Amino acid sequence: MSQGPTAALLAWYDRRGRDLPWRATTDPYAVLVSEVMLQQTQVARVVPRYEAWLVRWPTAAALAAASVADVLRAWVGLGYNRRALRLREACAVVTREGWPDDLTALPGVGAYTAAAVGAFAFGRHRVALDTNVRRVLERTGGPVVLSPPPGRAAAFNHAAMDLGATVCTARRPRCDGCPVRAWCPSAGAVAALPGRARRPRPRFEDTDRWVRGRVVAALAVGDALPAVAPERLDRALAGLARDGLVVRGRTGWRLP
Ligand code: SF4
Repeated sequence: MSQGPTAALLAWYDRRGRDLPWRATTDPYAVLVSEVMLQQTQVARVVPRYEAWLVRWPTAAALAAASVADVLRAWVGLGYNRRALRLREACAVVTREGWPDDLTALPGVGAYTAAAVGAFAFGRHRVALDTNVRRVLERTGGPVVLSPPPGRAAAFNHAAMDLGATVCTARRPRCDGCPVRAWCPSAGAVAALPGRARRPRPRFEDTDRWVRGRVVAALAVGDALPAVAPERLDRALAGLARDGLVVRGRTGWRLP
C-alpha cells in the first residue's frame, strides 16, 4: 500500500469528482449562494438555478440591493423561502461591513455553512460536516483515518461529500468500488446492519410547508392563492407574514 486513506480519497476525487459550477470558484458570495441553495435542495435542481442567480445578481452588493419580492420570485421552487431572505440579509451585512472572521455571525449561516464557505472560499482548514461527510467519517473511524491535509481542505471536503453521495451511501454503500476500503473498519459490514425503520411521513401536499410554498409561488406571479381549507391558508399566511415573506396590502396579500 503506497499511500494513505486521505491521499487515496483525494486521488479518487481527482479522477471521479463531480464537476459542479460552484467548485470552479472561490468567490465567497458565489459559494454562499450555492451552499444556501443546497441546504434543502438536490444538486441537480440547484445547478441551473445557481447559474441563473449569479447572472442576475453577480455580487453580494447586487443581491443586497434587490427587492425582497424579486428575491422571493427568483427563489420559487427551491423551497424554504426564509433561506432567500436570510441570504439577502447576509449580503447586506457583507456589503456594509465585509466578510466577518466568524461567518456564523451572518444571518442564516450556521456551523456547516460557515465551515463550507470557510474551506471553499477562504481556504480555511475546516471540515464541513454535512450528512454525507458525517456518515463517511463515522464509518471510516473519523479524523484518525481521514482528515484534510494542509492546504487541501476544499478538495478534501468535496471528495468526502462526493464519496458519501455516490459510494458510501446511507443504505447501500458500494464498498467494492470505494477508494478507502483498505482502511475502513466498516467495509463490507454496513449492508448487513439492520435497516432503520422508516417513519411514515405525511404527503408533502398535506403539510403547511407545501401551502406556504404555493402561496409564495402564487403571489410571485399574481395567481390566485391556493384552493385549500381556509384554516390551512390562514395558518400559512400568518406564518409567512410573521417571517416577513408576505404582507397584507390594501388589495390583499402580496410579496414585500
Ligand atoms: S469501505 Fe464501504 S463503508 Fe467504508 S467508506 Fe467505503 S463505502 Fe463507506
